[in-house]
Amino acid sequence: MTESLENKTTFRDLGLSEKLLEAIEKKGYQYPSEIQAGVIPLLLNGDRDIVGQAQTGTGKTAAFGLPLLDRLNIDKSGVQAMILAPTRELAIQVANEIKSFADARVRVTLLYGGQNIRDELMELKRGPHIVVGTPGRVKDHLITKRTLNLSTIDYFILDEADEMLNIGFREEIEEILTHTPENKKTLLFSATMPREILNLVKQYMHEYDTVAIQSKTTISDRITQIYYEVAPRNKFEALSRVIDMTEDFYGIVFCKTKMDVVEVASKL
Ligand code: AMP
Repeated sequence: MTESLENKTTFRDLGLSEKLLEAIEKKGYQYPSEIQAGVIPLLLNGDRDIVGQAQTGTGKTAAFGLPLLDRLNIDKSGVQAMILAPTRELAIQVANEIKSFADARVRVTLLYGGQNIRDELMELKRGPHIVVGTPGRVKDHLITKRTLNLSTIDYFILDEADEMLNIGFREEIEEILTHTPENKKTLLFSATMPREILNLVKQYMHEYDTVAIQSKTTISDRITQIYYEVAPRNKFEALSRVIDMTEDFYGIVFCKTKMDVVEVASKL
């Protein structure tokens, strides 16, 4: 988050409440990042939808999470915000980031595939203020099981929308959207803006403001990135050579599928 130091606007300038300013200070954030400086005032004061072009690592979770907490009414029953994320890892990350600023009374419920559904049902019965989930599981609760009601939401947030479409969640997203009220505010965040995303925006969002941040790299300058282009059949050989070439190799190998993970791990 090197960019935040260059941005001299303070969190106080953005209009957040004292309580949240305290939580932000406790967390150690000094200055808002670019996406935060752009999105927070719009969400606090504006009444339009928002399209944010930003990738992970830019502070986009707090950009929507902080104003959302600021506007939340703890005493109101019914879900007030629904956040959709492409993977369970991201959903967990988003929920944790939001909880880290929130009053202990704010109930944030996570819904994602692979998790014990009974635990989710218990959480839902308690009446969450904010729900964070992956599209498949959210649709399951909303439409198949009817254990989730989104008719009361004020905010609908699509996080990493391009990733969700890449995974093939378009249908789920659209079905979920048909079960939300017309007068909610919709926010869409995406690192890229391909045509499918723009179609989604056109079809489901009202008038909106755009916040695009220049794609500054958020990865530390001390990291050198290298890529090798190899044919699929040569990938394992190439990986083995990289490992052999590197003294005290220590790293993580990411694969596309579970099967690839099993195969690479056993071969290594
Ligand atoms: P995100 O892009 O939301 O995944 O955030 C990337 C990382 O930056 C997370 O670890 C956040 O806790 C952290 N972060 C977000 N906003 C700030 C800020 N204003 N100052 C310092 N760190 C931040």
